[in-house]
Amino acid sequence: MIDSAASLRPVPAPAPPTGFASGAPVRACIGLGANLGDPVAQLRAALAAIARLPSTCIVSVSSIYRSAPVGYLDQPDFYNAVVALDTRLAPQALLDALLAIEQEGGRTREFRNAPRLIDLDLLLYGDQVVDLPHLTVPHPRLADRAFVLLPLAEIAPGCTIPGLGSPAGLALAVAGQAIERLGALEAR
Ligand code: AMP
Repeated sequence: MIDSAASLRPVPAPAPPTGFASGAPVRACIGLGANLGDPVAQLRAALAAIARLPSTCIVSVSSIYRSAPVGYLDQPDFYNAVVALDTRLAPQALLDALLAIEQEGGRTREFRNAPRLIDLDLLLYGDQVVDLPHLTVPHPRLADRAFVLLPLAEIAPGCTIPGLGSPAGLALAVAGQAIERLGALEAR
């Protein structure tokens, strides 16, 4: 016999697969950096790997910037860029995917601020504030770094960093940091 009450009950939407956020894609921004090996090639390889992430589509890519090292100074200049993407990956799943790309790129962690083949940071995840045991968004050191703020201002000038303001406004406070804008990161 058909249970008519049950047949009228709304069917709940299927839960998204683990690691995926439900609803519309979220605009996230990723910071890329490298100063060992062939840094520009490694940035391009990381960009290609990010473009292959599931449920993720690249929206814009900044120029490459060359910046002086911070913290530990006895190392080569860094090459940096920022990528904006639309993704359905949840924040932790996105970070895990970025860490896997770093590992594939040969990233090791000898000490804080050490030179590196590739570094990927989750800078922004929409307007969300994320405070998980191994993930803080906005990235905790974002506002101190010209090599993040300038490329971010280039590709997302209208964005607001939750609790902090615009990238261009924040960049005024780090105007003394040595940084130079180079050519396009995206292969044309
Ligand atoms: P790093 O040596 O700078 O690449 O730091 C990587 C570690 O920082 C990772 O193991 C993450 O768990 C942690 N972390 C916390 N928040 C973030 C973030 N927003 N983006 C990237 N790494 C993060």
